[in-house]
Amino acid sequence: MANVLVRKASYNYEQLKPVFFEIIEMLAGEKIKPGNRVLIKPNMLSAAAPQDAILTHPLIIKAAVEYVLEKGARPQVSDSPAIGSFENILKVNGTRDALAGLDVICSPFKNTVSVDIGKPYGHIDIAKDAIDADVIINLPKLKTHCQMLLTLGVKNMFGCIVGFKKSQWHMRAGTDTMAFARLLVAIHQAVRPTVSILDGILALEGEGPGKRGKPRSIGVIMGSGDTFALDMAVCKMVGIDYESMPVLKVAKENNILSAYVIDGKLPAISNFHLPVPEGLIFGPRFLHNFLRRHTMPLPVCEDNLCRLCSQCWTMCPAQAITERKAGIKFDYEKCIRCYCCIEICPYGALHSRETIGGKIVRNLIDKFS
Ligand code: SF4
Ligand code: SF4
Repeated sequence: MANVLVRKASYNYEQLKPVFFEIIEMLAGEKIKPGNRVLIKPNMLSAAAPQDAILTHPLIIKAAVEYVLEKGARPQVSDSPAIGSFENILKVNGTRDALAGLDVICSPFKNTVSVDIGKPYGHIDIAKDAIDADVIINLPKLKTHCQMLLTLGVKNMFGCIVGFKKSQWHMRAGTDTMAFARLLVAIHQAVRPTVSILDGILALEGEGPGKRGKPRSIGVIMGSGDTFALDMAVCKMVGIDYESMPVLKVAKENNILSAYVIDGKLPAISNFHLPVPEGLIFGPRFLHNFLRRHTMPLPVCEDNLCRLCSQCWTMCPAQAITERKAGIKFDYEKCIRCYCCIEICPYGALHSRETIGGKIVRNLIDKFS
């Protein structure tokens, strides 16, 4: 039976530090030994300020680093940004300042090792620092995600795929959301974080995981040695069926979900806003590609917000975006609906829009169900 710890918390460091220390001591205290190499893996996808609620808050990272140092171990804070420099993210997010004076390595993942994650993916290059670490502290953010509904502990491990390799794997999964979820679960199982502690103090709801999402104060930190149990408990807290999250659906199919108990008080968060409904994939297999194309929400651009910064077309795995005089143009035949462009747009110019086909099918389903 997995244990999920839930504690009230704020970004006041005097209050946050003892709460964080209590959680990590209970879940991983015995596993962190003097001299251990401890990888701290926050969500550091792209440059954003703490109040945007897109990245793990710098004070949570600081608490993790201080705990590891107190144990006599060697902390390293790493992630692999989708685009831009890791150093700039540390600066903009305030992590560089928060960690000033602490003996910690902060570096982006660079070198990789090839790991067999099983069928159908086979070998995949995973950050060497993650594979070599004695202990991994996973620090996800509670936020919504256009494709995966929520991006929590399991998905945070996708950051162990380095740089543009992430795009290649998105491309390989194509428009098949469940194929991508299977990949995420397999990567998580290959890396297996020792403990996952979620920053749910200021969460992101609505059209996350990028600048289009809306910060929402929830005021909790949650931790578990079982990432799936943690993610299931978060679903319960925000009032959604855990099986509507693709990664948890896959984990259930793979029989790797455990029962869990809550230690603490899990708040009931009402009206937690989720992204535009996902595509409607049902019926015989030969119809699935057609349904994906016509019912999955489309990425769209608000030209008045676009500053032609080039980030979206640089990282689009399908090369489905081209620059125009004002704003950008999508090639929806090429687009695989990964929504990475929405995630990284620094100006919140991109969002997802339900297709006419999606609306019609959804209305029909609602009418006859
Ligand atoms: S849509 Fe966003 S990411 Fe793309 S060019 Fe415009 S501002 Fe940059
Ligand atoms: S246009 Fe956006 S959603 Fe479509 S493939 Fe490119 S990054 Fe993904």
